[in-house]
Amino acid sequence: MNRERRALTRAGLKATAARERIFQLLESALPERHHLSADDIYARLRQSGERMGISSIYRVLTDLEDAGLVHRHHFDRHTMGRSLFELADGAEHDHMVCVETGRILEFQDPLIEARQRAIAERHGFEVVGRKLVIRVRRAGADRAP
Ligand SMILES: [Zn+2]
Repeated sequence: MNRERRALTRAGLKATAARERIFQLLESALPERHHLSADDIYARLRQSGERMGISSIYRVLTDLEDAGLVHRHHFDRHTMGRSLFELADGAEHDHMVCVETGRILEFQDPLIEARQRAIAERHGFEVVGRKLVIRVRRAGADRAP
């Protein structure tokens, strides 16, 4: 059993060819920490001569998201309002989005995570998911006024 199939099955999903292929594409984007839109996935499939309709791609992404295998992000207008997807690979991280270039940076900060847990606990809750996006722009003189 290949890795994609194992991950899908473990998450309680039937391992269809479409799910396996999209999981694979998201996995191949991990090393560069790319966040892919449904359009990106569509284009990559086309590039390798495969055809999958955009609505099927969205359906698969939603299935993967519901099964906890994929995170969906809305980084607002700087990513043209598109949802971006990445594999939930276990390494929790937060994002910064540059408001001038749309560049997405990832970071981890144990202090922020600890503070979020403490805040939830103070209100009698435990954290089951978290999302933090910091909007940034390049600081300093090289920025146009
Ligand atoms: Zn990310």
